[in-house]
Amino acid sequence: MLFPSHIKCIVCDEELPSATRNAVCGNCKLPYNDTYCSVCGRSIPAQNLLCDRCKEYSPPFTAARSSFIYRDTARTLVHKLKYGSAKYLAADMAEFMADTYFQSEFAVDIVTCVPMHKSALSKRGYNQSALLAENLARLINKPYADLLNKTVKTPTLVGLKRAERQSVVKNAFALKPDADIKGKSVLIVDDVLTTGATSGECAKVLLSGGASFVYVITFASRELAPLIF
Ligand SMILES: [Zn+2]
Ligand SMILES: [Zn+2]
Repeated sequence: MLFPSHIKCIVCDEELPSATRNAVCGNCKLPYNDTYCSVCGRSIPAQNLLCDRCKEYSPPFTAARSSFIYRDTARTLVHKLKYGSAKYLAADMAEFMADTYFQSEFAVDIVTCVPMHKSALSKRGYNQSALLAENLARLINKPYADLLNKTVKTPTLVGLKRAERQSVVKNAFALKPDADIKGKSVLIVDDVLTTGATSGECAKVLLSGGASFVYVITFASRELAPLIF
């Protein structure tokens, strides 16, 4: 029992000699997001500064944090979870996100996720952001609730230019009729923050529905994509 066999690295599937936390082997270094913009949470060269975008514009959300930079092994994990049906990874990935939550100064009442359109959901069979959000909620001991609907089927944002992304997600989300968020602090969970357009739109809907604060935590964020908010 002390030395369980067949423990595998969650990144490369290499068998590990014994269980390590989150089961990542020594060869698979994770790209931790150590120095980040204090508003949007994206990687910048020094801590306690704002990125160029946040110096000029305030995002709709209060603040965002990401556990990793979206490259290398972090990207591999997102792809396995999202496109490789590796739903079991959500619990491990959420542990890193819980560390990120506890390192932040976020005070959260309720955890939710970026929703998928029902046609996309029936195609994939699960919403990876919901899996991350449910696991994160459990780890930080906060209630989880589905608060948003994706009312418009949008094309994948991958490869779209900045202005296109913004127009694609605009008005694509709606508050669920039974969502009880008046005066509450809501945490939006997603797998990757690219431009901030998606979480920004979700934040606008939650704030106009009465939420007091909206925070965002993603497993990873892209380093160089221009921000949209
Ligand atoms: Zn590995
Ligand atoms: Zn920023």
